[in-house]
Amino acid sequence: MKILVLNAGSSSIKYQLFEMPGQSVLLSGAVEKIGEEKSLIQHKIFRKDGSVETQQIQDVIPDHLASLRRIVNLLLDPEWGSIKSADDITAVGHRVVHGGEKFSRPVIVTDAVMDELRKLSFLAPLHNPANIKGIEVASEIFTHSIQVAVFDTAFHQTMPDYAYRFAIPERFYRDNGLRAYGFHGTSHQFVTKEAARYLSADLDQFNAISIHLGNGCSITAIKDGVSVDTSMGLTPLGGLIMGTRSGDIDPSLIIFMAKHLDMSIDQIDQLLNKESGLKGLTGDNDLRNIIQRYDEGESGARLAISMYVYRIRQYIGAYMATIGRVDALIFTAGVGENSAFIREKVCEGLESLGIIQTKELNEGNHSGIRNIESPESNVKILVVPTNEELEIAIQTLPFIEA
Ligand code: AMP
Repeated sequence: MKILVLNAGSSSIKYQLFEMPGQSVLLSGAVEKIGEEKSLIQHKIFRKDGSVETQQIQDVIPDHLASLRRIVNLLLDPEWGSIKSADDITAVGHRVVHGGEKFSRPVIVTDAVMDELRKLSFLAPLHNPANIKGIEVASEIFTHSIQVAVFDTAFHQTMPDYAYRFAIPERFYRDNGLRAYGFHGTSHQFVTKEAARYLSADLDQFNAISIHLGNGCSITAIKDGVSVDTSMGLTPLGGLIMGTRSGDIDPSLIIFMAKHLDMSIDQIDQLLNKESGLKGLTGDNDLRNIIQRYDEGESGARLAISMYVYRIRQYIGAYMATIGRVDALIFTAGVGENSAFIREKVCEGLESLGIIQTKELNEGNHSGIRNIESPESNVKILVVPTNEELEIAIQTLPFIEA
């Protein structure tokens, strides 16, 4: 059976079509710049002989409904698609960023669920309305498919209250839902399961620290297979230093900027989310370029990398104290999977905590899941490619089989 995974943003829709339960990916792609002068479609087909072909189309695509119609046409295309009718899609799995406290697992989308999602939009005003739009247009087109919502926050709903509450009066939690929720849940969940499987460990006794380093970065403490703490909070702004987001700051910076620098809340929001992190420190949010500048001896790049790595190490120390025994340290996402340099820097000096990596293994040119620790290391150090879309398809599957 075929499961389509959709990730709708405010001006983009990413899609992947899986054959399940075999987990093979048939098609993937994205429509970007929806509603702009020229939108861009990138479409990939994974052929049976192992080859992959890509096509790019530029066109005027005014909205999400038109975008999904274009995607469906590609899925139906005799040369570029792999279905004969929209009814061949048994289920659509939707990435939904914020599930609040209401959703601790995936759900079939009903009118009541849609009402709840709309109510939760205040917690993720940039993401949830776009995710809702994606569900609405998919329901219009795939009238015979089950629609399933899979939440970025759900995996972290196992955090204890002393980890997720803020030390502010209780009424803000009770009346306004202000607490840490955590994000990247499907990624942390996927790599945790993969790591436990790879190490032949029982998931329900598996302790790990999962480090997702991409454009967005977060780190999660996993105890007995579930999330017990994570670095992102109410929104994906807190925690580690990211491409354009500041991560943790002294909250008084916001008060200072508003009071003494005459900045509006919208300006501060823009500053901390879009103009800070690596971009704020170096002018560039792509770590590859910053590492090159580091190698050339540029002091700004050196400081940015020192800060980026220092913050990750601080969290590793904190989470070791949180979970006690650590079976594995997991690196994942764009930076975590591809940058031996950052992995080395993160592990440097952690030998006394039982974290010792091997240079040759770390720098080895393997793809797929692998371990890079030395035989003396108490903690396994793994590089685990994440696959959030596959995890969404996996979490959608039980609703079909039920
Ligand atoms: P993601 O959000 O997981 O797609 O990760 C994207 C980010 O990964 C990009 O912005 C790059 O900065 C980073 N990245 C990818 N490959 C490398 C690499 N070899 N070294 C450092 N950073 C990388």
